[in-house]
Amino acid sequence: MSDTIFAKIIRKEIPADILYQDDLVTAFRDINPQAPSHILIVPNKPIATAADVTEEDEAALGRLFTVARKLAEADGLDQGYRLIVNCKEHGHQEVFHLHMHLLGGRPLGPMLASSQGG
Ligand code: AMP
Repeated sequence: MSDTIFAKIIRKEIPADILYQDDLVTAFRDINPQAPSHILIVPNKPIATAADVTEEDEAALGRLFTVARKLAEADGLDQGYRLIVNCKEHGHQEVFHLHMHLLGGRPLGPMLASSQGG
């Protein structure tokens, strides 16, 4: 698959505000924050989308949640937060390297901005 901007951030080839990195995942602040805290947590392995995960990815995908919890605590998000994984076109995914958004620091409102149901 083609390289993405997140792969370059993981390899530290381009700058980012990296908050955490281990053998499985990397976390950095979103360059265009949608909330006071907006952190991206990504597997180091370049999985394109949530539709591409396999059982062998379970350790890294589980690590996304434990790192999200630690970073939420570090950012003082004790009133709660939202974790989002966008998938492909209908999910409005823009970067095709699977990532979890951690958003918090203000009330985030209902889950979807659009009132169009169905
Ligand atoms: P998604 O729509 O789920 O693919 O989200 C992609 C996210 O990546 C957006 O929130 C962007 O603001 C963010 N983003 C794109 N480029 C960078 C970058 N160089 N550093 C940090 N965040 C980025």
